Amino acid sequence: MPIEVITFDLDNTLWDVEPALLRAEDAQRDWLLQHRPGTIDNYDHEGLWEFKKQVWKRHPELLHNVSQMRLVTLRELQLAAGFTEEEAETGAEHAFAAFLTERHKVQLYEEALEILEQLAGRYTLGALTNGNADIYKTDAAEYFDFAFLAEDIGAAKPAPDMFQAALAHAGTTPDCIVHVGDNPDHDIKGAQGVGMYTVWMNGRNHSWPGGRRADAEIRNLNELPAAVEALAG
Ligand SMILES: [Mg+2]
Repeated sequence: MPIEVITFDLDNTLWDVEPALLRAEDAQRDWLLQHRPGTIDNYDHEGLWEFKKQVWKRHPELLHNVSQMRLVTLRELQLAAGFTEEEAETGAEHAFAAFLTERHKVQLYEEALEILEQLAGRYTLGALTNGNADIYKTDAAEYFDFAFLAEDIGAAKPAPDMFQAALAHAGTTPDCIVHVGDNPDHDIKGAQGVGMYTVWMNGRNHSWPGGRRADAEIRNLNELPAAVEALAG
């Protein structure tokens, strides 16, 4: 069967996520220091990490929902610092908004737009992310027909839910879809689990961790059109 649909992971597949995340964390921190003094001032990096881990332990049901988990953490940090429920609630919303604004300012890989435009002329393109990035807030928005976030679907990759949502939305069979992603477990194993083709975006030249390999491996998005073409043959 010819490939009809390409689904993409976003972070570290279409852009490097780390610069945006660092800026986003800074923005959230600045907001708290200014508007909720005492909330994080006395934590060092490790202390804050410990606090977060305790919140995760108390809320395992939110592990697939990075946005909700961040809001809960922000709220609990303020409550622990003595702010009221109401202050903690609005503070969490504002601090998270400061975070998201920077989180969405991602810089697509140099070659990404040209490749996506080329692929969009021939295939249906979708986005599947475990994070809270929004492809529709980037310059690549016009090339995407659909996008699913783990927090909307209710389960994160490698669970089959997001891949099945893509299949249902595209109205096609797994042998007509290829999923492209950087994470061997979330992206490759997850997509293999529902029978899709897979392309491992290995831009950082990692060695394969073991298990069934992807159908193709690329170092740069420039290699993707030929890799997808070869799958169909
Ligand atoms: Mg990724």
